[in-house]
Amino acid sequence: MKVAVVRETAQGEQRVALVPEGVAKLRGAGLDILVERGAGDGAWLPDAAYAEAGATIVEQAELYQTADVVLTVTKPAGETISLLGPGQTVIGMLAPLTDPELATALAARNVTAVSLDGLPRTLSRAQPMDALTSQANVAGYKAAIVAAEAFGRFFPMLITAAGTARPAKVLVLGAGVAGLQAIGTARRLGAVVSGYDVRPASKQEVESLGATFIELKSAVAAAGEGGYARELTADERQGQQEELEQHIARHDVVITTAQVPGRRPPLLVTDDAVKAMSAGAVIVDMAASTLGGNVAGAKPGEIVTTGNGVTIVGAGNLAASVPTAASNAYSRNISALLLHMTKDAALAIDTTDEIQAGVVITHLGRVVNPAVAALIQSQEGDTGVDGASD
Ligand code: NAD
Repeated sequence: MKVAVVRETAQGEQRVALVPEGVAKLRGAGLDILVERGAGDGAWLPDAAYAEAGATIVEQAELYQTADVVLTVTKPAGETISLLGPGQTVIGMLAPLTDPELATALAARNVTAVSLDGLPRTLSRAQPMDALTSQANVAGYKAAIVAAEAFGRFFPMLITAAGTARPAKVLVLGAGVAGLQAIGTARRLGAVVSGYDVRPASKQEVESLGATFIELKSAVAAAGEGGYARELTADERQGQQEELEQHIARHDVVITTAQVPGRRPPLLVTDDAVKAMSAGAVIVDMAASTLGGNVAGAKPGEIVTTGNGVTIVGAGNLAASVPTAASNAYSRNISALLLHMTKDAALAIDTTDEIQAGVVITHLGRVVNPAVAALIQSQEGDTGVDGASD
């Protein structure tokens, strides 16, 4: 079986799906590895390192003509979808719940699509494949670094002959994987850190990192399914925003990471809360996307300075900006998943397996993932299109 690693084309994407260490591992399982020329350049992994690990370096046209399995980080761009054909498999973070059209297009081309973001994350045997976690870890670390860079003062307390600097006060809203890593990193940089989340279980995790957990008087407890949060009701949301405002105002730096699966990110920092912050304060919104974010006025991929001197960094894809660490981790995740799906050096699709049931999105010309199929059907219903996908 020929497994190919593409050169990512999305803007600002510097990661690569497989690093040379992964090439050696997959070759050990009897797979042939093709690497598109320059695929690892963004992560400082030269073609020579891949060749040394046993990969064959190829041009894009040859890759798509000969690969059985194509490994990507993000979803393939429009022009590369048309290069994929019947019998081929693409494995990556395809975000089918935000881009179901891609699943429809791949099914129509009879391409098997496997998406790491569909992994059942609470299964302990799936943990080595959990790319959402590995990339959120990288992004959470970088969020603290980005905040420190944008901040005009020190994070740690410094006592020097020129005076004493008090430590920065950092608040992290959303204490999941990324939030906890942001808390840990800001603490290591010497800041005084507080954390907040709607899942009651997060209190202990925040405190175990040496940060203070912020408890709101309204104390919304919103643990949802699978360890995630549920969406708040309008009343809960308003109460939360109003109470958070006073906490936000007394912090120098706010890092937001809150997400609810399949929903728009919740607005946690309102316009009023931004206005209540001091000049020089910094907000990093990790949820900033075209769907909106956690912070009023945040723009994805942009740095905005408000009239009252608050810097808002719209930081949607931070993992891509720590490309070597992110690629190393992702490479292990995708290799583990590929090997899980491989028998006798060939792909063995079996959607009765709990892991495959989550990650296999299209197969044999159909959208087979129930959540994605249901989403497509509901959209077809919305637009009045006949839902005859089967
Ligand atoms: P996520 O990216 O979906 O969300 C980030 C955080 O935002 C979550 O902690 C969520 O509770 C929080 N949030 C959502 N709405 C909020 C609001 N209105 N106000 C404040 N916070 C809000 O989540 P994630 O980081 O991917 O993971 C969430 C949970 O899943 C964590 O408990 C994590 O430990 C767990 N998890 C478990 C496993 C496993 O069991 N192997 C793997 C991955 C994640």
